[in-house]
Amino acid sequence: RIERMSILKQDPEPRLSMGALAVVGSHSINGVSELHSTLVRSGLFADFAAMWPERFNNKTNGVSQRRWVLTANPGLAALLDATVGPDWVSDLDRLSVLERYADDTGFRDAFVDVKQDNKARLVGYINDILGEAVDPSSLFDVQVKRIHEYKRQMLNVLRAASDYLRIVDDGYVPPIPRTYIFAGKAAVGYYHAKQTIRAILGLAYAVNKDRRARPYMRVLFLPDYRVTLAERIIPAAELSEQISTAGMEASGTGNMKLALNGALTIGTRDGANIEIEKAVGPEQFFAFGMSVEEVRQLRQLGYRPQDVLNSDPMLSRVMDAFVSGRLSPKAPEVGAWVHQRLVQDGDDFMVLADFASYREAQERVSERYLSRKDWTQSAILSVARMGRFSSDRAIREYAEGIWGAKPVE
Ligand SMILES: *Cc1c(COP(=O)(O)O)cnc(C)c1O
Repeated sequence: RIERMSILKQDPEPRLSMGALAVVGSHSINGVSELHSTLVRSGLFADFAAMWPERFNNKTNGVSQRRWVLTANPGLAALLDATVGPDWVSDLDRLSVLERYADDTGFRDAFVDVKQDNKARLVGYINDILGEAVDPSSLFDVQVKRIHEYKRQMLNVLRAASDYLRIVDDGYVPPIPRTYIFAGKAAVGYYHAKQTIRAILGLAYAVNKDRRARPYMRVLFLPDYRVTLAERIIPAAELSEQISTAGMEASGTGNMKLALNGALTIGTRDGANIEIEKAVGPEQFFAFGMSVEEVRQLRQLGYRPQDVLNSDPMLSRVMDAFVSGRLSPKAPEVGAWVHQRLVQDGDDFMVLADFASYREAQERVSERYLSRKDWTQSAILSVARMGRFSSDRAIREYAEGIWGAKPVE
C-alpha cells in the first residue's frame, strides 16, 4: 500500500507519480462528472479515498451559454430572448420554459429556421475551405474533438465505411442522406491519432468522388479544429457523436455544447453523457454500447477482436475493404494500419466490440430523422433541459463546496 501511494515510486524503477503528487498536494479532488468521481474514488485513487474521504467530491463540468449560445449561435439566442425572455444569459435554468413550446407549430418552424440558417452558413464555409458542395437538407452528423483512440473516431469511420459499401455494392438506399463531419487535432507525437486523420481523409476521398454514393453521403474532415471552428460547426450540428469507450471520458464538454445547440446525442454511457441522458430524457439520447462494468468484464475475460470480426459479416466486409486499399486509394498503407490497429494489436478501446450496437443505434437515429416533427420536438426538449450544464452552476458549486466563497452584489 505504501508503494501504491508513494509519490516517488521505486518499482520497477524510480518514477514520479503525478497523480499521487496532485492528491497529496490538494485539499479538494473533483472527478468532473458523477461517473468519473465514482471511478476516481473506487479505482484510480482508492487508497487515498480510504484515508481522506472528505477530500473527494464531484462538480460536474459545465459550458458557458455566453460563448456557446449568445456568441456562437445568435439566431438561437434571439429566439430564446423572444420566447423565454433575456434572463437565460445569466440563468440557464430559464430554458425550462421552452418545454411547453415543443408542441407549438409556430415555435418549431422558427427553431428549424435557425438550425437551417446555421447549416447554410456551414455549407458556405465548407465550400470555401474544401470546395465540396454539401446538401443542406442532409443530417449533419458531427464528431468534433481531439483525435484520440479512446474517443473512437475509428468507430464512426467503420460505420461510415459500412454505409458506403452497402450503397455501392448492395444498391442499398439509406432512409436519409447524411453529412459526416469530423474535426480535431492529433498531438504531435501521437502516431495512431495521425493515422486516424489519414483514415478519415482516405474514406472522404473514396466516398466523395463516387457518383453512386454522393446523393446519400459526404465525408468531411475540417482542418484546424479550435474554438473558432467549433463555434461555426456546433450551431449547425444535428447529431452529436459522443462514442468513447465507457469509463474513458472523464466528463466531456463538447457533448454539452452540442445538446445545448439542439443536437440530439448518440452516445455511450460514459462521463457526463450519463447525466445528459438523465436530464434530456432517453428519447433525446440514442444510447448504445457496453457499460463500464461490461468493458471491465470483457477485459478480464480476455477480449479478442478477431472473434468479433469472425462473427460479424458486415464488419468483415468493412475490414476487407480497408485492407484492399479501396477505402484509402491514395494511401493504401492506411488501410493496412486500420486492420493492424483494430485487430492484430488487440483493439485496446474495444471499437469492434461496440460496432454492431452502434450501427443499430444509428438506424434508430435515421428513423427519427425521417419524421422532422419528432426530431424537432426532441431537439427543442434537449435545449429546454440543458440548464444544469451551465458553467455558472459548476462555478457556483465550486464556490460553495470547495472554496467557501460567498457571492458579492
Ligand atoms: C469543447 C471543446 C473541446 C472538448 O470537446 P470534447 O468533445 O468534450 O472532447 C475540445 N476542443 C475544442 C476546440 C472545444 O471547443
